[in-house]
Amino acid sequence: MSEQWIYLNGKFVPKQEAKVSVYDHGYLYGDGIFEGIRVYSGNVFRLKEHLVRLYESAKSILLDIPYSLAEMTEIVAETIRRNHLSDGYIRLVVSRGEGNLGLDPASCLRPNIVVIAEQLALFPAEYYKTGIPIITVATRRNRPDVLSPQVKSLNYLNNILVRIEAKLAGVQEALMLNEQGYVAEGSGDNVFIIKGNRLITPPSSAGALEGITRNAIMEIGAALGYDVREELFTRHDVYVADEVFLTGTAAEVMPVTKVDGRVIGDGAPGVHTNRLLAEFRALVVKDGEKIYADKVS
Ligand code: PMP
Repeated sequence: MSEQWIYLNGKFVPKQEAKVSVYDHGYLYGDGIFEGIRVYSGNVFRLKEHLVRLYESAKSILLDIPYSLAEMTEIVAETIRRNHLSDGYIRLVVSRGEGNLGLDPASCLRPNIVVIAEQLALFPAEYYKTGIPIITVATRRNRPDVLSPQVKSLNYLNNILVRIEAKLAGVQEALMLNEQGYVAEGSGDNVFIIKGNRLITPPSSAGALEGITRNAIMEIGAALGYDVREELFTRHDVYVADEVFLTGTAAEVMPVTKVDGRVIGDGAPGVHTNRLLAEFRALVVKDGEKIYADKVS
């Protein structure tokens, strides 16, 4: 395999040399933000939306990114080209930067900006055929009035605890409830339920990240004639749904066939979920930032 190049503060460096200081506040305190982005056939899926979310996260935590959105677009594009990546995953990280041991970010003079582009370790194709079992975990979603779930911060400890709980219970993914006990989302994905013609996902105010994939599925669902709703729902609603699936940049549209031991529908990925997955996979190829396609070898 050819060398992997990482974008690090204005330069491309080999993977082994891509290092930042242990005094980086991203490392010391989780002080920073990130995005996970997908490339399909050389097209970056909804890059603008990802970058808008990144800049909004930055604004929210008073982190000044020293590049315009257009410049950041070019940095991502160049990282893809350097790595000859036609299908893969981009991780864009902006940390507060190197400072001293104090909490005050004033000692951090410039953020560390990293872009990693690599072949994706995809979820096994099997999962999409069989669906996956999930559970609800005891770990609750961070309260929106404490740290907004819309800030895609480097502090993912809560989400990591969810994943640990899930793995301990023998499943790959889990649902988090919000502080009121309504369903919020998965550890790294949004959740949808289908009941009749209704396609329902929790509102962002319930603690759900406004996922780029979630938005795409809501658009596709509306175009296909589903009654798309952002509504609060409970675990009971999940148990008695016709179909359940998770959405995310990595997961795409992942069918869920069992929740807390309750079999969903007939225990196999449902027709609606399969249809939405197929439509999503068609969309990602045609709806990408095509400008990169002919530049990527
Ligand atoms: N929720 C959380 C907590 C996430 O980390 C992600 C992944 N970014 C998502 C939902 C799904 O968002 P997207 O579709 O933009 O990947």
